[in-house]
Amino acid sequence: MSKVTINIDGKEVQAESGQTVLDTALANGIYIPHLCHHPELKPRGVCRLCLMEMADGELITACRMPVIAGMVVKTKTKKVDKAIRPTVELLIAYHHDTCRGCPAIGKCELQTVMSHLKIDRKRVRRLRPPPAKKPLDKMNSSFDYDPNRCVLCGVCINTCEDIHGVSLLYYVGRGHETKVAFYGDEKKCESCLECLARCPVGGLMLKKPVEVRH
Ligand code: SF4
Ligand code: SF4
Repeated sequence: MSKVTINIDGKEVQAESGQTVLDTALANGIYIPHLCHHPELKPRGVCRLCLMEMADGELITACRMPVIAGMVVKTKTKKVDKAIRPTVELLIAYHHDTCRGCPAIGKCELQTVMSHLKIDRKRVRRLRPPPAKKPLDKMNSSFDYDPNRCVLCGVCINTCEDIHGVSLLYYVGRGHETKVAFYGDEKKCESCLECLARCPVGGLMLKKPVEVRH
């Protein structure tokens, strides 16, 4: 593979040809917000948070854009901010209002995005709809799904497809009722837990071991 040089936010960096701009940026210590990206999965560009501004002003997702020698991209412009900030604010407004008990505490990608964008928590509180906590979904005998914490990034769905080689998880429902669920025969799930391992937030969690009293 040959090397190419590109410019991200004013910094010249080297990349392998064929590598995406997002992977190149992350490998060079330049953070670009993302939720649906995982290095082991095919890029889908679903969350639309890794937008970058090209030299001609066009906005393009960095996770799906391969590097081109000499390209100049900017990820921290007003135009990018205007495009991604409302998405993040709404995601947080519809997210669980406390991190207490979350399995992703300390490694939550949503927290990383929030702190990168310096999200105004007071503003988000005003956007928050009246509390209507959705019940936990008992997915199967190994794990549960929390629709209050899921950011609908699709990483679990794509993990099952790309890593495990089957398509057992899908989006179901519409609008605010959209969630992830088994579609079809959930007994085909082998509880490999690859989907849990890649969830960027606390959407999926291991079942608590049942306490046996003697
Ligand atoms: S545990 Fe494995 S097989 Fe089951 S849904 Fe998740 S990725 Fe698919
Ligand atoms: S459960 Fe996790 S990985 Fe799956 S869509 Fe929700 S946030 Fe993404």
